[in-house]
Amino acid sequence: MTELRPNIKDFEPAALRERLKQEGLPGYRADQIVGWLYARGVEDWEEMTDLGQDLRRTLADMFETRALELETVQHSIDGTSKGTLRARDGAVLEAVVIPEEDRTTLCVSTQVGCPLACSFCATGAMGLTRNLTTGEILDQFIRMREALPEGRSITNLVFMGMGEPLLNLPNVIPAVRTLVDPKAFGIAPRRVTVSTSGVVPRIAELLEEVPVNLAVSLHAATDEVRDVLVPLNKKFPLSELLGALRKLPRLSRRHPIFFEYTLMEGVNDSVADARRLLKILAGIPAKLNVIPMNAHPDAPYRPPSAEVASRFMGVLVRGGMVSTLRRARGSDIDAACGQLALREAHDQLSRKAEIGDPTEAPTKPAA
Ligand code: SF4
Repeated sequence: MTELRPNIKDFEPAALRERLKQEGLPGYRADQIVGWLYARGVEDWEEMTDLGQDLRRTLADMFETRALELETVQHSIDGTSKGTLRARDGAVLEAVVIPEEDRTTLCVSTQVGCPLACSFCATGAMGLTRNLTTGEILDQFIRMREALPEGRSITNLVFMGMGEPLLNLPNVIPAVRTLVDPKAFGIAPRRVTVSTSGVVPRIAELLEEVPVNLAVSLHAATDEVRDVLVPLNKKFPLSELLGALRKLPRLSRRHPIFFEYTLMEGVNDSVADARRLLKILAGIPAKLNVIPMNAHPDAPYRPPSAEVASRFMGVLVRGGMVSTLRRARGSDIDAACGQLALREAHDQLSRKAEIGDPTEAPTKPAA
């Protein structure tokens, strides 16, 4: 069997410089390669015309350049597109492009599946297959950029797809460094947001390494409800999570923490829940994104009525919380938050449900 060569995109620009130095090549060669690969999206060594024939051959013997192939793109009626991508080992993952008036946001995955088993999330129902490599995270950007209509470019990145980014920091950090490198993708760090369900010990590590925005998937204002929705809460309860966030340096109203709150009927949508949220987030520069639940077959939750959602938002706004009620994007193509999971995994789960697999019985959260 032929051994796979390393993928050049697994090396962030500084590491590539070091790697090439070991081969006796000067640092500026790494800059040239980074420019071809990321800024121009060229992956064929023969097209990198300022590298010289011998060097192109050497590099082609040393490195692969593509980590992912785009299998399909589905388009939602609201303009959102979901790409299904396949890695070299056959692993399949998803990435989502969300066009808005003033920006185009790409939502990337960091793991194939996810080990955290949040009870409202289709990805969580799949379990974890493996972490994605740095090159596989970056190739989601490149493959989805190639599929964009003429004249559109990706302006913002959110690490909110399949997986928990903070459980894959050795690959996420080099990917972010490449995304924000002016010679590579050149995305401004303020346009990159990394989301976590609350892996407390790794939050400070992430922000020390890369100056990105932090989003926290909160979803509940009490440990009782959050233990069910986000089981990681049993390990890192709200007091520990919020205590760690309060200690983060450089937070301000201009640099807040983004909190995601999926609103679920009868679970976390009461006036008392909104008041509790105001209380537990007091003193943290915060922006709260409230997103009505997208009903899907892998979770026993539904969105509340528009009236209940608006009452919930009213309490937050009157309490001085910067908060937005967002509409779920791409729900008709299973591309909304918490819906990313492969169709085949969905089908397997439904088959298990049909034959009454007791291990798949959903747990109803405490209201
Ligand atoms: S919500 Fe995020 S952390 Fe939770 S199971 Fe889904 S992908 Fe994993």
